Amino acid sequence: MSTPKLSSKIWNFFTINAEDESKANCDVCNKRLTRGGRNARSYGTSALIIHLRSFHHSEYDEYTRSTESHKRKRDDEEDSKRKHSKQGNLDYFIEKMTPFGQNDPRKHAITKSI
Ligand SMILES: [Zn+2]
Repeated sequence: MSTPKLSSKIWNFFTINAEDESKANCDVCNKRLTRGGRNARSYGTSALIIHLRSFHHSEYDEYTRSTESHKRKRDDEEDSKRKHSKQGNLDYFIEKMTPFGQNDPRKHAITKSI
């Protein structure tokens, strides 16, 4: 089995916009964000990370802790794989990779902040 293209933990907190792949929706506040460029080559997760760091401190903390033991692959590699995949696969991968359910990424943060 090949490596899922959305291997970055940041996708626990964001979902790629179904209508426009250059955009991603924040699962926490539903804000639409750009992924950094108009074409797939310039896509990246840095804008998403910055958003998380700026607006959702609990989620950002969770994200950074999840990446410490799991170094994420280079974005370039992920992007080149993603281009060859169909849109319909995205939801499949996101769902599969999200251990606690993509609809409620906040429940860990809430529990932690108590
Ligand atoms: Zn947000």
